[in-house]
Amino acid sequence: MSQGVLVIFDQNQGQVRHVVPEMLTVARQIGVGSVTALTFGTGASKTLDTLGEYGADQAIFWEQEPFTRYSSDGFADAIVELVPKIDPSIILFPATAWGKDLSPRIAELLGAGLATDCLSLRREADQQVIATRPVYAGKALADVVIETPLQIFSLRPNINRAVPHSVNPQVLELNPHIAETSFRSVVVELRQAQSDVKEVTEADIVVSGGRGLKASENFALLDQLAAVLGAAVGSSRPVADDGWVPHSYHIGQTGKVVSPTVYFAVGISGAIQHLAGISGSKYIVAINNDAEAPIFKVANYGVVGDLFQVIPALTEEIRKIKADS
Ligand SMILES: Cc1cc2nc3c(=O)[nH]c(=O)nc-3n(C[C@H](O)[C@H](O)[C@H](O)COP(=O)(O)OP(=O)(O)OC[C@H]3O[C@@H](n4cnc5c(N)ncnc54)[C@H](O)[C@@H]3O)c2cc1C
Repeated sequence: MSQGVLVIFDQNQGQVRHVVPEMLTVARQIGVGSVTALTFGTGASKTLDTLGEYGADQAIFWEQEPFTRYSSDGFADAIVELVPKIDPSIILFPATAWGKDLSPRIAELLGAGLATDCLSLRREADQQVIATRPVYAGKALADVVIETPLQIFSLRPNINRAVPHSVNPQVLELNPHIAETSFRSVVVELRQAQSDVKEVTEADIVVSGGRGLKASENFALLDQLAAVLGAAVGSSRPVADDGWVPHSYHIGQTGKVVSPTVYFAVGISGAIQHLAGISGSKYIVAINNDAEAPIFKVANYGVVGDLFQVIPALTEEIRKIKADS
């Protein structure tokens, strides 16, 4: 009988996203058998220490060509060939752009059910794994059970706490037989965003701005606040559409989903499409001059005031506190 969890993720020169230790922790906690990790590309085997620290029993690294460049169809075919050899009952992906691209292909090719963007997984007394995931743009949570023998889930980053569990993973040499024809679409170039800009999906604090900032150059105020907090800068969609900030800043239903510890919404009204991207934040701090703005309905802390006064004052206060400590 199939058992165990196969955790599949991307990596960059041995660096993994926060969600990888979180996925390994969840894989262990649901307790359906051994945990096998699979990752790809140059530096894949450098993730071994992290895998051992968070409890992967086995590890598979596909470092060789053609796995150095992502290909949806090529990776999918290779994974489909691997799955019967591991015979897991569950496959976990990160709910990142990469995982969102690959997981539906694998589900379709293997005839497995898929629940995307799950906040948590738990196992009830009847042994079924139940996933909780947001629906209606984050307005409600649904409990989902997959009824196919193989169940595939993608896990939203920064929701589950990573708990170390030290083991010594066995490295499995299970190399796929790859037909070159599988790699029909391949990523030809990766461009690194400015290296000093933090990625919003990985940041613990996000300072985000909306139309209330009035103009592109006023984002400098948020850059200054973000610098003292060690935060990433994000935005609502209209300001990215208008070119005030790069599209990589755009958060929400059609942008990135973030789940930091603290999310600052500055001059953002709190439209439902924006809230869809921030509902996983632990604390939301709203700064808006309209006391009736919908963002205050979801905010844990709010300042009703002019952001052009509040943000410089807040930045200065935090700078002083940091200097004193
Ligand atoms: C299909 C679809 C998908 C969408 N997807 C997304 C998405 O992914 N992400 C997203 O963000 N939006 C999305 N939208 C757009 C969304 O509906 C809103 O239009 C958008 O979020 C509003 O952006 P905003 O809050 O920056 O601007 P506004 O709604 O114009 O709000 C600006 C806020 O700034 C405040 N303000 C103004 N001046 C000041 C000041 N001096 N000090 C303090 N506060 C001030 C105002 O009171 C106001 O609340 C989508 C829309 C559709 C139809």
